[in-house]
Amino acid sequence: MNLVLMGLPGAGKGTQAEQMVEYYNIPHISTGDMFRAAIKEGTDLGVKAKQFMDKGELVPDEVTIGIVRERLAKDDCKEGFLLDGFPRTVAQAEALENILEELKRPLDYVINIDVDQDILMERLTGRRICKNCGATYHLVFNPPSQEGTCDKCGGELYQREDDNPETVSNRLAVNVKQSQPLLDFYNQKGYLRNIKGDQDITKVFEDIRALLGGTSK
Ligand SMILES: [Zn+2]
Repeated sequence: MNLVLMGLPGAGKGTQAEQMVEYYNIPHISTGDMFRAAIKEGTDLGVKAKQFMDKGELVPDEVTIGIVRERLAKDDCKEGFLLDGFPRTVAQAEALENILEELKRPLDYVINIDVDQDILMERLTGRRICKNCGATYHLVFNPPSQEGTCDKCGGELYQREDDNPETVSNRLAVNVKQSQPLLDFYNQKGYLRNIKGDQDITKVFEDIRALLGGTSK
């Protein structure tokens, strides 16, 4: 079960990743965790990555890809893995193909949690926070009983700058631009499977299980 998980912000990728790694008992390999582990273990590549990160610079592909190779070669990936946040570019995807061929751990599927952008907008701009106590609400998923007012303390609710429609819309556009070539690449290779993400979380996971097989190890 060698998998790459993709999805735009707000698509519910994190929630599905959690359920998948638990159900199928495979490691969740996110870029951040991988870097942190390599740095902690003090591997050559970890040390190199840290030098770039300390300077606030982007870690170059050769270092990132090396860290991915080391991680995927570990024993706990023998039965499968869930890659999340890597690859981000077609060049990285090509490098991943080579690594997996070398390791004889070929990719099974690239799962894309697919949600329309209008729905993502609704999800990502709906958050409201209490000025007074910091409680969070969501206009669709967890609305306050009285509009604009905190249920817990009566404080005024506000929207964070990060959540305003213009910021969110820009963030989505950047992500679409980045992920589309990757989706095309994996579609051409026959790996891509789109899972409908604009439905109940439980139903999304059911669809994933229907694709991957329902039995856990
Ligand atoms: Zn409050």
